[in-house]
Amino acid sequence: MKPVLKKHIYNLTPFTLLDFPGKVACVVWFSGCGMRCGYCYNTEIVTGHANYTYEDALKFLQTRKGLLQGVVLCGGEPLFSFDDEMLHFIKEIKEMGFLVKLDTNGVNFKALQRLLDEKVLDFIALDFKAPKNKFQLVTKNKTYSYKLFLNSLKILIKHDTKFEVRTTVHQDLLGLDDIQNMVDVLESLNYRGDYCLQNFVESEKNFQNLTKRHDSFDIKKITSENLNILYRNF
Ligand code: SF4
Repeated sequence: MKPVLKKHIYNLTPFTLLDFPGKVACVVWFSGCGMRCGYCYNTEIVTGHANYTYEDALKFLQTRKGLLQGVVLCGGEPLFSFDDEMLHFIKEIKEMGFLVKLDTNGVNFKALQRLLDEKVLDFIALDFKAPKNKFQLVTKNKTYSYKLFLNSLKILIKHDTKFEVRTTVHQDLLGLDDIQNMVDVLESLNYRGDYCLQNFVESEKNFQNLTKRHDSFDIKKITSENLNILYRNF
C-alpha cells in the first residue's frame, strides 16, 4: 500500500513579481508557526491547516520550469517544522533550476545554518520583530526567542548569502524609539545592508484586535548612517 504523504503546505501562489526582489517567482506557503504576532493576517496558515504535500508542490514546479526564476518559501514560518524531508524538498527545487528565497522569523537558527551549509538558499528575508524588551509582547512567543533570532542575524551577517532584515510596523506595538533601538542593534552588530520597514496589512483576521491604520508618528524620522532603510506601504 502506498504511504500517505504528510501535508505541510497551505497553498501555492503561482506567480508573483513582488515577493522575490527582481525575480519572477511563485510562493510556497508553509503551515504552522510558533509565534502569534498581533498583526499577523495569515492566522489560518499559522494555526497549522495544510492542504498540499511536498509532492504536490514539486509536480506544480515541474510545470513552471523555464517560466519562473524563483520560489519563495513563506508561511507561517517555513522552518517551524524543519526536518530532512523539508531539506530534500528544497534540494529538489534547486535541482530544477529555481532560485530559492526564504522568509523567516529566525527562531530556528539551527535549520537556517543547515540550509546555508547545504547552499540551497539564494536570498533570505529575516524578520526583526521587536527590540528585546518588546519581543514577547509583539510575538507572544517565549522570552528566549529574541536570543534565537539574534543567533540567526549573526549567522547571516557572517555569511555571504544575500539577505535583508525587515520589521512590520504597527503603531500599537512599536514606537519610533523601539525602531530606532532596533537600528542601533543592527548597527552594533555591523550589519550594513537593507533594513525594510513595512506597514502592517489591515485584515479582519489579525490575531490581536489592533486599531486601524493611523499615523501617530512619522516613520521616516528613523535615521541611520550605515543601513539602507527602505519603506514599504507607508
Ligand atoms: S507574522 Fe508572526 S505569527 Fe504570522 S507567520 Fe509571521 S512570525 Fe508567524
